[in-house]
Amino acid sequence: MAYNFCPTCGTKLILKTAGDDGKIPYCSVCERFWFPVFTDCVLVLVHNEFNEIALAKMPYLSEKYESLISGYMQVGETAETAAAREVEEELGITELTNLHFTGTYWFHKTGVLMHGFIALAKKQKLTLSSELTSAEWVPVDKVPNFLFPDSSDNAAFAIYRHYLQEIKSNINHKIV
Ligand SMILES: [Zn+2]
Repeated sequence: MAYNFCPTCGTKLILKTAGDDGKIPYCSVCERFWFPVFTDCVLVLVHNEFNEIALAKMPYLSEKYESLISGYMQVGETAETAAAREVEEELGITELTNLHFTGTYWFHKTGVLMHGFIALAKKQKLTLSSELTSAEWVPVDKVPNFLFPDSSDNAAFAIYRHYLQEIKSNINHKIV
């Protein structure tokens, strides 16, 4: 989202050169630049020791498709902390091992930057948050049947493919 007015004092912003960033909206009263802002989310693929992936159904996203675990980052929180927090809140899983970053992905439709992660949890009963209508462990090869259709904007599929690559090359996935 690009600012037209100063969020602090309401003055109409002017465009002013900010070094290499080019012309950026600027408040001449507060003497500060207002760079465009966007929302940061985490998207976490949680798998267990049997190569099953935790998929959840969130009624506010879809009645039909399931999703990886996702949530908005909070101010002051790292993406890693947000990933672990969302998994605990949504599934009741408190112990993750080998939480690792897979990359970032734009969801252009809503201007959200998704931070992708993969983590291992021991197979356990999932305790759902009230945000979810269901959650289940799905065998890795069945996962595409439940996700939103693949597209260039579908971060869940990108992280899923990342996971398949890791299994193939056996990086980070020693069978326990
Ligand atoms: Zn201002």
